[in-house]
Amino acid sequence: MKTTKAKIIDGKAFSHQLNQSLIPIVKKVIGEIGRPPALAVILVGEDSASQIYVHNKAKRTQEAGMKSVEHRLSSETSEKTLLDLVTALNEDNEIDGILVQLPLPKHINEHSVIQAINPEKDVDGFHIVNAGKLATGRSELVPCTPLGCLLLLRDTLGDLSGLHAVIIGRSNIVGKPLAQLLLAENTTVTIVHSKTKNISEITTQADILIVAVGQSELVKSDWIKPGACIIDVGINRIADLEKGKGKYRLVGDVDFLEVAQKAQFITPVPGGVGPMTISCLLRNTVAAAAKRNGVEIKLK
Ligand code: NAD
Repeated sequence: MKTTKAKIIDGKAFSHQLNQSLIPIVKKVIGEIGRPPALAVILVGEDSASQIYVHNKAKRTQEAGMKSVEHRLSSETSEKTLLDLVTALNEDNEIDGILVQLPLPKHINEHSVIQAINPEKDVDGFHIVNAGKLATGRSELVPCTPLGCLLLLRDTLGDLSGLHAVIIGRSNIVGKPLAQLLLAENTTVTIVHSKTKNISEITTQADILIVAVGQSELVKSDWIKPGACIIDVGINRIADLEKGKGKYRLVGDVDFLEVAQKAQFITPVPGGVGPMTISCLLRNTVAAAAKRNGVEIKLK
């Protein structure tokens, strides 16, 4: 196997440490409120990737000592039925976090459903109230994937102040919230996207390059500055010709083997940002439970 010059950022190991560090905090909350923090996850439809995500989220929630409540609804569920369930969970005092697994079936308006969640229970951090708090420096519940990227960057580079971070992708769930988080760390932030001209002229100036596009191996080594830190958020399923017909493997948005010869740090796919997303969901769930019940906790 080809050796890489860059140090590989082990998101799986770091997320395991983070999950372990949450266990005593969860115990403290249980001691004060007399029940485990509880996360309700709603899955509408039979999308196979979503089913795997929901299963993993429930498993990790329970491993951290918290309660997981799953609501699996058929793909024919009406928007009204889904909104009624969200309302019931908002009113249930023993539920601390509500997560609606996206994407939803086409006939349901995702925006309406997300905005129906009580912002105090919005552990995905997608509600407009939480987006506004993040944008104005008063963040509480922050989207999990960008938070996971930030924790990996802090752990890898320490102080991020003054570094130039370039983010490829401007989605509401990754690119935009990540830009806010990085601004709060005093980095200089540039966002590029599908309509940006001469992208590689900008990305080659980045000390930190974060890629959240959804196109397999888009970023090549001539897109990066030597010694940069590369965070690959993308998860793409491609045919695995070595394993045979019908077999797939996961790759990121970065051409890992090529870029790892030039970067100083790089996240792999899988095993980089992915596991951090779930850890940050656990972190948000215990944070929501503590805040709603007036328990003081300290999170890293
Ligand atoms: P999205 O489709 O909402 O946004 C993609 C962004 O990429 C857009 O802003 C678009 O302008 C930009 N883009 C598209 N083509 C481009 C190009 N050729 N050059 C530059 N920019 C381009 O996607 P998203 O929800 O932000 O997800 C992005 C990727 O991250 C996907 O692969 C997704 O599966 C993955 N993801 C991973 C996690 C995780 O836990 N690791 C979480 C969320 C998303």
